[in-house]
Amino acid sequence: MSNVLVINAGSSSLKYQLVDPESGDAAAKGLIERVGTSGGHLKHESGEQVDERDIDVPDHTAAVAAMREAIERGGITLGPDTVAAVGHRIVHGGRHFTEPTLIDERVESEIERVSVLAPLHNPAGLAGVRSAREAFPDLPHVAVFDTAFFADLPAPAATYAIDRTVTREHAIRRYGFHGTSHEYVSAQVARFLGRDDLRQVVLHLGNGASASAVLAGRPVETSMGLTPLEGLVMGTRSGDIDPGIPLHLSRVAGLDVDGIDDLLNRRSGIYGLSGHRDFRDLVSAKDGGDDDARLAFEVYVHRLVKYVGAYAAVLGGIDALTFTAGVGENSAPLRAAVLERLGFLGLTLDPHRNEERSGKARRIDSGEDLPAVLVVPTNEEWAIARHAVETART
Ligand code: ADP
Repeated sequence: MSNVLVINAGSSSLKYQLVDPESGDAAAKGLIERVGTSGGHLKHESGEQVDERDIDVPDHTAAVAAMREAIERGGITLGPDTVAAVGHRIVHGGRHFTEPTLIDERVESEIERVSVLAPLHNPAGLAGVRSAREAFPDLPHVAVFDTAFFADLPAPAATYAIDRTVTREHAIRRYGFHGTSHEYVSAQVARFLGRDDLRQVVLHLGNGASASAVLAGRPVETSMGLTPLEGLVMGTRSGDIDPGIPLHLSRVAGLDVDGIDDLLNRRSGIYGLSGHRDFRDLVSAKDGGDDDARLAFEVYVHRLVKYVGAYAAVLGGIDALTFTAGVGENSAPLRAAVLERLGFLGLTLDPHRNEERSGKARRIDSGEDLPAVLVVPTNEEWAIARHAVETART
């Protein structure tokens, strides 16, 4: 079976993985950072071998060339004999893209058009697509959208109560993000518990963070909205705030659009509250008696508790609560603080299971029946790889 080359292009980075779509095993993976600046950096891993060095990557075309060179140095030539498809993670699919899509010129233009909804994310994704299609013209390229899983959210959940003429003209609705992860993790939970009728809440807690409510495999609510700024408290993003705050700040603090964007996307969240953007540092500072860190931790937990309660109400009960991504998979103290307040939903936590580290899907509650509490490692690359081969085949 051929591998899938999964590419996730950010504004100044290119993350890649050569994945076996059957097993999820990565033959090679890497991260190229500081694309577009003078001091680029590559970290490439293949089995036990690590290739790490400074490189010159003025743009995404150079980054794709560096990726190719690093993979081929390891002895794998990239071409139709070895690669079944290239899967591109694209953040925003807008109203148009509701499923993984084989990329041609028309699809490229449409992704460009949707960029107006995700000016911080889609242009980079598109630069990755263009560079990779140039480098690998003989391979099928598939766009996998972060929004796609949430495309058919029920209207009452997707609709903002704003003048309908404005929302229609500007395609304003709740799109949701991290969809590939929520889809993958909720499917893993269904498989793990052997039930396809579950009322699930999934908490994807990484640098970005989002919650979803999934009923029998379909999403019915999610916390991110038109943009990935709404919802939970994140590393540097505020999540939910009174929409009057930006208006107030523009009036009293003279902040313009870029200033407000910078404040809410890059100087807020746990970083804005405590000066720590990494959750491990936050927990250490809190444990060391830092009051700002304690408050940031409590605000983070409070928001999670509020969302799980709200989603249990939306679902009419809860059968499974799942933690995933960097913070969700690794921070036992965070999970303990959240579960301490969710006993009223019948959710429990086994302190020993909570502390275990396995890298595999597992239960951490103290029972055997439902509701269950789980930790499930997300694997967006594998999910993208599977979507890419399926789509390339059809
Ligand atoms: P991204 O959203 O960028 O994909 P990840 O899902 O990898 O990020 O999550 C990254 C975050 O996970 C880090 O910023 C860090 O705060 C957190 N994290 C990673 N390991 C741990 C750990 N052992 N304990 C607590 N938090 C962790």
